[in-house]
Amino acid sequence: MEFIDPELLEYCEAHTSEEDALLKKITRETQAKVLMPRMLSGQLQGKFLELMVKMHQPKTILEIGTYTGYSAICMARGLSKEGKLITLDINDELEKMVRGFFEESGLSAQIDYRLGNALDLIPSIEGDFDFVFIDADKENYLPYYQLVIDRVSKGGVILADNVLWSGKVLPKGRKKLDKDTAALLEFNRFVQEDPRVENSLLPIRDGLMLARKL
Ligand code: SAH
Ligand code: CA
Repeated sequence: MEFIDPELLEYCEAHTSEEDALLKKITRETQAKVLMPRMLSGQLQGKFLELMVKMHQPKTILEIGTYTGYSAICMARGLSKEGKLITLDINDELEKMVRGFFEESGLSAQIDYRLGNALDLIPSIEGDFDFVFIDADKENYLPYYQLVIDRVSKGGVILADNVLWSGKVLPKGRKKLDKDTAALLEFNRFVQEDPRVENSLLPIRDGLMLARKL
C-alpha cells in the first residue's frame, strides 16, 4: 500500500538532501546480495534520522536492528565527536559486509556493533540512552520498549519504524490479523496510553512513532 501519491513521494525525495556515494553503495549491495532489501531505510527516512540526531545531539544512541547499516550510518553522521551509537542485530551473516561499511564511513570508532538477540543484549549494555531507534522484529517492539523506557533520559527520544505496517494496522488494510500486525497494534496503543511519554505517529514512509520521555 502506498501512503501518498507516488508522484508526491518522488517530489518529497527530490526535495530531500541526496544520498552520498557510500549510502548509494549500501543500497546497491543490499539489493544485489541481501534478502529483503525493502527493509533498508532509504534516502527520505535516512536523512530524517540524521537530521533528528543533529537537532537532538544525543550522547548515546541505541539502534535495535542494524541490517546492512544504512540507518546506523545516517544516525552516526549526526553525532558529535563525543557521541556513540550502539547497534544490535541477530543476523551474523551480514557482519563482514556491515563492518566494512562502518569502516568506509569513517565513523567506526563511534559505532559499537553487537551481534545477538537484542532481548538478551539490551540488559547487558551499561548506561542510559538519549535516543533509541527500534527497527528489529515487530513481535518484540513492546518488549524492546519496556526494556529501554526506564533507561531513556528525560527529554530523550524513542523512534519506532514500520508502525503502520503497510496499512495493516487498519482492518481495511489486511485480510486477517497476523501476529506482527497484532504486536504493532499493541505497541502503538501502549505508547499512546503511556503517561511517561508524549508522542506523535508520523506517516513517514511505513510510519514512524516518535515518543519523547517526559
Ligand atoms: N535499521 C535498518 C533495517 C533493520 S531491518 C535500516 O533502516 O536500514 C531489521 C533487522 O532486525 C534485521 O537485520 C534482523 O536481522 C534484525 N532482527 C530481527 N530480530 C532481531 C532480534 N531479536 N535481535 C536483534 N536483531 C533482530
Ligand atoms: Ca524499518
